[in-house]
Amino acid sequence: MALTAQTPFIPKALHLRPRIRDRTGFPPSISLMSSFDSLGIRAEILRALADLGFETPTPVQEKTIPHLLQGSGDMVALAQTGTGKTAAFGIPLLEQVDKDQKMVQALVLAPTRELCVQIAKDLEHFAKYLPGIKVVPVYGGANIREQMRGIQRGANVVVATPGRLIDLLERGAVALDQVRVAVLDEADEMLNMGFQEDITTILDRTPAEKRTWLFSATMGHEVRRIAGNYMHDAEEVSVGGGNKANEAITHQYTVVMARDRYLALRRFVDADPEMFAIVFCRTKQDTQELAEHLTRDGYNADAIHGDLSQQQRDRVMARYRAKNLQLLIATDVAARGIDVSNVSHVVHFDLPGETESYTHRSGRTGRAGKTGISLSIIGSRDLFKIRSLERQLKVRFSYVRVPDGTEIMERQLLALVDRIKNVEVDEAAIGGLMSAVALDLAGLDREELIRRVISLEFQRFLKPYKGARDLNVDLARKDHNPRERKEKTEFGRTPAGPMRSMFINLGTKDGFDKGKMLGYLCGITGLTGQHFGRILLKDMYSFIDIDANFFDEAMGHFKAANYKGRKVRVDEGSGGGATGARDFKADKKRFNKARYQ
Ligand code: AMP
Repeated sequence: MALTAQTPFIPKALHLRPRIRDRTGFPPSISLMSSFDSLGIRAEILRALADLGFETPTPVQEKTIPHLLQGSGDMVALAQTGTGKTAAFGIPLLEQVDKDQKMVQALVLAPTRELCVQIAKDLEHFAKYLPGIKVVPVYGGANIREQMRGIQRGANVVVATPGRLIDLLERGAVALDQVRVAVLDEADEMLNMGFQEDITTILDRTPAEKRTWLFSATMGHEVRRIAGNYMHDAEEVSVGGGNKANEAITHQYTVVMARDRYLALRRFVDADPEMFAIVFCRTKQDTQELAEHLTRDGYNADAIHGDLSQQQRDRVMARYRAKNLQLLIATDVAARGIDVSNVSHVVHFDLPGETESYTHRSGRTGRAGKTGISLSIIGSRDLFKIRSLERQLKVRFSYVRVPDGTEIMERQLLALVDRIKNVEVDEAAIGGLMSAVALDLAGLDREELIRRVISLEFQRFLKPYKGARDLNVDLARKDHNPRERKEKTEFGRTPAGPMRSMFINLGTKDGFDKGKMLGYLCGITGLTGQHFGRILLKDMYSFIDIDANFFDEAMGHFKAANYKGRKVRVDEGSGGGATGARDFKADKKRFNKARYQ
């Protein structure tokens, strides 16, 4: 392939090679835990687990399986995707099924088709030595008649998306009155996708005395409500620290100008020839466009989003799974439930709107004991969102610089050396040529030969990155934003854009000085010091200049705010609109006047 500035070198063989960062499977501490033998699982399933290479239970399996096998009650398990939760509920579920009773005894609800298929496949693997147990997945976008026939042939376990199951219930094609166990998997995702009513309808059609097991990566208000309404004295199990992100994932962010995000993405990919990533965009259109751009520029990328037909989605996913695709560009919805191992990077080309979406996106990497990187490519305006994610998820994000040309070339070169070392020599194909080549190169010693091969390749890497500019936004400098005004502010900070004035009913009488007020504002709004301009403190109230782009959002954060038992009241500053230095003075005058007259 001839390289141009637009066609970076990506070693093809490396696309096809799975990235395995940790070949030991789950973390070393797990090997100290008990084996599956001690959990009370029947021999047939233990044999199937051995075939699958499952040697030791993961933490969620260790916590839930004995309880679900022995007890008779409900369970709420807070566990991330990729922690082994399918086996955690799947094994006890199979233990409850009597293959001789040809009726639906266990029901699993999951948010997406992908996940349904995956769960059904896993259950079949666990039930490999339990002949006669019939697991049927039912989901939208596929032939409903075939699914109906599957159920009629005597399904013992149904794995369903809520929408399709409702459809089947309405057609009288499935009966749930003999269900003994209902599992709600990725309950938070099902609620996010608006399945709340469907779940309620479905659960109402199952016997009251059944057992209900709810698995969720996050435990928001709605999930708790479902648990409260449909479960009794549920045992609560939490793995990996509640809403916290998976610890196998390293969270990174890089800061560039908005228009440089694409170039930055390319550089990260070029710098890591073994990268096998899912790149998230917010909209279908962005997803499609990004994939097209990358393909045009010589990258091995494709998109997955809601506008694709099921066949198109399957095709893309099959390519990605087989590692014939290096970059899967996805929307949040389309990527739900994707379980592909060895995803090395999740890249947030756009940050998600919700913290929970960040957790779900990141959870596509760092699975099954592997480590992974979750990289956010952001503009400096989004720094506060990173801080807010840090606070909510209780993880640290590390700042990484966009690699420069030299770094990329070095890494590409090392990858080349690696390939030279590992290449399979096809003697039959080149044998005949070897003597002529050897004769031709006879005058060059080993060292000289290596130098020449490397120099030759280096020219290829050099070309696209020759004179390439630094894409990093220097965070120490405040003048990187061309729209910025050089205004004097508190603490020598320079605001990032036009300001609006906010009134707040807190002042020096409440114990605030400017530093404390700034800290308080940042804490409530999730913004950083850079988003605030001048602060005018009075005894009972204050005026604060806020970056106009974040004004409404910041005001929203005060809706439920209390300070020492007093309701915090905020309003637009009396200047209205952007204050600027002059308006601010007017505010000050007006309030001084009001105070002393
Ligand atoms: P899950 O969270 O159920 O989607 O599982 C994530 C991945 O971990 C899947 O690919 C499982 O096959 C794998 N897995 C689950 N439990 C174990 C185990 N005990 N040992 C090894 N791999 C496992």
